[in-house]
Amino acid sequence: MTFEQKLVAGLEEIKGIVFECNECKSRIVISPDSVDAPPLHCPRNHHWDWNLIDDYDKTSSPFVSFLLGLKKIRDKARERSAGFKIFLEFNRPEHVSYQSQDPKNSN
Ligand SMILES: [Zn+2]
Repeated sequence: MTFEQKLVAGLEEIKGIVFECNECKSRIVISPDSVDAPPLHCPRNHHWDWNLIDDYDKTSSPFVSFLLGLKKIRDKARERSAGFKIFLEFNRPEHVSYQSQDPKNSN
């Protein structure tokens, strides 16, 4: 039997958007509340390309844009062509209890 643990978090719980350079692994962290312009390069000046997706359909709905954009960004991340990877930063949950999930040890 396979168990998996998942962390479910709301968008309001994102503390930072982390950009990691593919070239030098340096990182830039931006608060989601103060995003005004994307970082165009890493701290060591390696270029990051934000305009790789030619067939992106613009929409006035930020919800639709989020869903469509997330899929396309994940596809591009596999190619590593943008020059950077994106991570989301959350605070560690405080009230997490870890219990044995081995069925042989359950009472
Ligand atoms: Zn770099």
